[in-house]
Parts: sequence; C-alpha cells; structure tokens
Amino acid sequence: QQQQLIHSEKLASIGQLAAGVAHEINTPLGYVSSNVETLCDYFDDYNCAWQAISKAAPDAAKTISDKHDLAFINEDINSLCASIASGLKRIKSISGDLGHFSQMEKLAVSNVDINEDVIQLAINMVCSEIKPDIEINFLPGELTKSTVMPIELSQVLVNLLMNANDAISKAGTIEINTSQQNDKITIVVKDDGCGMSDNTINKLFDPFFTTKEVGTGTGLGLSISHKIIESHNGVISVSSGIGKGTVFTIELPVAS
Ligand code: ADP
Repeated sequence: QQQQLIHSEKLASIGQLAAGVAHEINTPLGYVSSNVETLCDYFDDYNCAWQAISKAAPDAAKTISDKHDLAFINEDINSLCASIASGLKRIKSISGDLGHFSQMEKLAVSNVDINEDVIQLAINMVCSEIKPDIEINFLPGELTKSTVMPIELSQVLVNLLMNANDAISKAGTIEINTSQQNDKITIVVKDDGCGMSDNTINKLFDPFFTTKEVGTGTGLGLSISHKIIESHNGVISVSSGIGKGTVFTIELPVAS
C-alpha cells in the first residue's frame, strides 16, 4: 500500500488554471469577433452596391444573379453570420465564467453538522447513481458543529463516492466514517474496488488527469476536491494499491 500526503504547493490550483485559460482565450476571441464584425459590414456594403447595380442595369444584374445563384449565397452568408455570432457569444460567456471561477466568493456557514449536512447529504445525492450491489456503510462519530462550506464539502464527498462506485466493478462496499480528536475532524472514505497504481497515485490530484474512457471522466473531480479541502486549511490523502481498494482520508481543522 502506498501512503501519500498531497502538499498544496505541488499543484496548480484549478482556479488559477481557469483564469489562465480564460485569459488565453480572450485575446484570439477579441480579434475573431472584431474581424467577423468587419466582414458583416463589408457584406452590408456589398448588398447596397448590388441593389444599386440591380436598379441601374436590371437585366444584366438578373443574368449574373441567376448564373451564380446569388439569392442562395446571400441567404447562406446571412445564416453563417448568425451562427458565428451565436457561437462567439457562447464562447464569451464560458470564458467569462472561467474568469470568475477564480474569484468566486464561497461562504462559510457556522453550526454545520458534518455528518448530516455534508456526508448524509452527499450519500442522498449519489444513491440513485450507485450500482445496485454496492453497499454504502456510514459510521458517524461524534463531531462538534463546525464552520465550513457545506455545499463545497459535500461536492468533495460526491466526487469520492462516485469514484469509488467506478472503481468497484459490480459488487462491493464503500465505508465512510468520521471521528474527532480535539479540534481535528477526520473523514475516511474506503472502498474495496480495483485500487490504483503508484503512477495513478502520483498524478491523482492533477487537473485533467483521468484513467477513464474519453467522454466519461474529466479528471477534474479530485483536483477540485483538493482545492476545496485546501481552502478549509485541511489535508486530503490517499492510501491505495492495485487490487487492494482505496482509502481517502480528509482532515479538517475546526474550532472546538
Ligand atoms: P475522473 O473521475 O474524471 O477521472 P478524478 O480527478 O475524480 O477524475 O479522478 C482521477 C483518477 O483517479 C480516476 O480516473 C481514477 O483513475 C483514479 N481514482 C480516483 N478515485 C479512485 C478510487 N476510489 N479507486 C480507484 N481509482 C480512483
């Protein structure tokens, strides 16, 4: 079994990555948008000129128009412009969201019961997605109520549970337990699935690292989870080996 602690400096945070991507996209997006606008203006000018020609020399204009099917090309250019404009609008809005991601203000909530408001909530959220022969055993320990970001923490639990579900091919058990020592809460999520190689363990929390088939995994779940635990000044660590199952341990400092 491999035991590895993940240090925060080792990883580029997903927020920085998102802001970087947004910045890189914004520059080409700016000149593509302005070039498309210029092309649309040229097309308007061309249409005006063509109308003038059609008025001055209608017979010649009709012959040319029929020969090159200008009416069809006209319609085509119009719909292409509309589709490019809507595509660019969509890219701008995604890029804006990515840019905001890094500055997103997340609110901590006081008096959170981590067993109920975080873990049980996550179990309820995933239970319809979990394979029918997988049993989830939740063994809650006694915890003081804490000040945390409950939605973000339950997102971490959802990620761990869904990964455990993927790691168990048909039947198995996912065990979750919680405990507290002084002002440190520990959450353990253990599965008896396929486990991981050393290579996977080393890259586990890197953004976009996945061993899943294209289209099934994004490789963002654990890097986001890492960022969320880090923002609580906590630590997430893993112990796993091929064929030996996996244990994720989260340690969170809480004011007692
Ligand atoms: P994704 O689930 O989209 O692949 P994650 O960041 O959540 O992205 O996980 C990265 C990789 O870590 C997975 O592709 C898988 O190889 C491995 N992994 C995560 N959790 C487990 C687990 N419980 N058992 C085995 N492998 C796991």
